[in-house]
Amino acid sequence: VKIAVLKETATGETRVAASPETVKKYIALGASVSVESGAGLLASVSDAEYEAMGASVGASPAVLKDADIILGVQGPDPKVLKGFAPGAWLVAGLDPFGQRARVDEYAKAGVEALAMEFMPRITRAQSMDILSSQSNLAGYKAVIEAASAYGRAFPMMMTAAGTVSAAKAFIMGVGVAGLQAIATARRLGAQVSATDVRSATKEQIESLGAKAIFVENVAGIEGEGAGGYATEMSDEYKAAQAELVSSHIAKQDIVITTALIPGRPAPRLISDAQIASMKPGSVIFDLAVAQGGNVEGSKPDEVVVKHGVKIIGYANTPAHLAADASALFSRNLYNFLSAFWDKEAGKPVLPDDDEITAAIRLTKDGKVVNERLLA
Ligand code: NAD
Repeated sequence: VKIAVLKETATGETRVAASPETVKKYIALGASVSVESGAGLLASVSDAEYEAMGASVGASPAVLKDADIILGVQGPDPKVLKGFAPGAWLVAGLDPFGQRARVDEYAKAGVEALAMEFMPRITRAQSMDILSSQSNLAGYKAVIEAASAYGRAFPMMMTAAGTVSAAKAFIMGVGVAGLQAIATARRLGAQVSATDVRSATKEQIESLGAKAIFVENVAGIEGEGAGGYATEMSDEYKAAQAELVSSHIAKQDIVITTALIPGRPAPRLISDAQIASMKPGSVIFDLAVAQGGNVEGSKPDEVVVKHGVKIIGYANTPAHLAADASALFSRNLYNFLSAFWDKEAGKPVLPDDDEITAAIRLTKDGKVVNERLLA
């Protein structure tokens, strides 16, 4: 079986879908691996490192020749998909809702497109989950960037010249990214508080040594839907939350927002009036900016200054930690492919009745087959 690793072409994408470590492991499974020249450069991996692990390195169309499995971080332009073996798998973060038209083109091109971000949230699939591995790093990076943009220090410092007080950091949305943001802000010495719509996160916030800010006594408070994801909240809840957040946010120096609802635009958590209530010099990092933003006025890859408050957010936060993000992303793909490896067939096989297959398979035999896309 031949595995091809593509060089990413999307603007701002610095990651690569296979690391030297995973290339070595694929070869140990019996695969041959070809890597597009320069694929790892922006993630600090040279062509020579892939070659040292046994991969062949080549230019664009040749790399795909007779490939059975094509690995990418993002979905490639369907036009470049040529020469691969019939029914080849395309394994990548395919952004199926955002790139819906492409999914049709993948079907037409004859690849079996497997969207790694649709990996179900089950214990067995945890090590294959690109959303978790990338969100974790993004949560860290958001705090580092906010700290860097902040004109003051995070920790309390007692110096001969006087005392510097600790920064107050507020984390909104406590999923994978939010938990890492809490931990990072704590390590830097900030006073940290956090909120979420899922009441289960309260204990997690407190166990990290942060203060939980929660709406109480409103119906529908659990806020948890299928797969542990957040659901859309009632109007009553939203009003209570907005009031609570307003009074809290005015006292914060750093706010990190991470709230997402799958398949929908990101929920608006911070209004312009709330930004105006903050002290000048405060910093907001909007991790959801690429999904429409949690913060009014935030713009991808721009520093927006409103009422003296800096609002930051990257279109692709994990790409700003390319080496670690690539290493973990690569392992997610390897963990997935190796879990389904059929020794006799000498390649991975996805049973039609497997929960993972049903969740991630977008196209097969020229058709779009995924329930979430057909619904
Ligand atoms: P996410 O990226 O979908 O959303 C980030 C956070 O924002 C979530 O905690 C969500 O509840 C919160 N949020 C949504 N709307 C909000 C609002 N209006 N106000 C405040 N917060 C809001 O979430 P995630 O990081 O992917 O994690 C969601 C859950 O899934 C977590 O409990 C996580 O531990 C779990 N998980 C499980 C697995 C697995 O078992 N394989 C893998 C990954 C995550």
